[in-house]
Amino acid sequence: MDFGKLIPRSYKNELRKAVRGEGIYLYDEDGREFIDGCSGALISSLGHGNKEVAKAVYDQLVKLEFAHPSRWRNDATLEAAEEVASIAPGDLKNVWFVSGGSEAIESALKIARQYFVERDGKGSGKTTFIARWNSYHGSTIGTMGLAGSMPRRRDFTPLFQETPKIQPHYCYRCPYGQTYPSCDLRCARSLENEILRLGPERVLAFVAEPVVGSTVGGLHPPVEYWPIVREICTKYDVLLIADEVMTGIGRTGKAFCVNHWDVIPDIICSAKAMASGYSPAGAILVSQKLVDVLKGGSGAFQHGHTYNANPATAAAVTATLRIMKRDGLFENAAARGEELMKGLRELMDIPIVGEVRGMGLMRGVEIVADKATKAPFPAKTKAAAVVTSCCMDHGLVVYPGTGMISGVAGDQFLVAPPLIVTSEQIGEILARLRSGLEDAVKKLNG
Ligand code: PMP
Repeated sequence: MDFGKLIPRSYKNELRKAVRGEGIYLYDEDGREFIDGCSGALISSLGHGNKEVAKAVYDQLVKLEFAHPSRWRNDATLEAAEEVASIAPGDLKNVWFVSGGSEAIESALKIARQYFVERDGKGSGKTTFIARWNSYHGSTIGTMGLAGSMPRRRDFTPLFQETPKIQPHYCYRCPYGQTYPSCDLRCARSLENEILRLGPERVLAFVAEPVVGSTVGGLHPPVEYWPIVREICTKYDVLLIADEVMTGIGRTGKAFCVNHWDVIPDIICSAKAMASGYSPAGAILVSQKLVDVLKGGSGAFQHGHTYNANPATAAAVTATLRIMKRDGLFENAAARGEELMKGLRELMDIPIVGEVRGMGLMRGVEIVADKATKAPFPAKTKAAAVVTSCCMDHGLVVYPGTGMISGVAGDQFLVAPPLIVTSEQIGEILARLRSGLEDAVKKLNG
């Protein structure tokens, strides 16, 4: 091992070096232009090279770069919390900043447990979370035990506290072999069975992504799904935690994805696009019910990371959200998202495109070997990697799903350009995507 040198993400594939970005475009060391068709991993919602955000961060850094959150408050963070609260649904106006998605989920799990301990006493039996198979909630030990992405967790399972899981709303390959709507949302209703099986007095919270991201790319729920799980959680005194790390901050055409169904969770986890990549950022948005119990009890959230509430991140968050509001980017995501979906449907004539789905500017494509039977390509063909590399050859970056067991379900990828994307650029993305997919057909079937 070469200590002292950067450990690469892959020793096998030489990654291109990104040297510059502007708007929806990235440029490599040879000056080649790529459309960032997935905003990194649904992060760069304002696009690259935004000087307004960069200046806001610079101005903050020269004024106050850091003051430890255990001893100091700072204006930048108070202002950022106001901005986040201004787009939060219901009474989720209490904001705790962290440095990314995994930290947001870990913070949500801890505040949920603390709520029950302070409400019911230290002996509270509420110790169990319920999550879903084929989900991703982060890469720390705690979030990996929670999530159900088989390939990602396989080698690490002995380290986890395992979390009970229910099946996702994977209508294209319904785990129950049923069809929507005659299924009567068995996937959502199975939450009630699982709570009853475990005993409601043991269940703390249900955690799920409103639109699935990196596992079953772009999988959106039937409209009834979130209202049903909300009702079940309320009935059994179980908290509802929405992992909006990918779906939040306008990505699906509304500030938060749960707004589409007027559902108010108890906690929302947000990250990624919150500072649009100009600073590592994340947060939990917490309901008043939880905060009131903490206020009346120990008076503090028993949790903390060094970079909680750091001023530079706060400046990036405030600037990002103000630009998004000023420029109507949530509305743009909704409108451009419809255009993108229309174009993706037209790609269904390509033999390997099995399903297109998603919401707003978070769209997923599932690749299959046989459309009639929905048979996936064998795992060894690495179909998602082939498609994404063919798209790169045409100057388009898409985000391959790597969280499913290849060969069991289809390979997946996400198309999710920055929220600043124009209609013309959507057309360019679709043209490059068609060329990439047509090349992939020749490679996969050739
Ligand atoms: N939850 C979801 C839904 C995610 O997509 C991700 C990141 N892909 C995370 C949590 C973890 O976020 P981070 O990588 O910032 O820790």
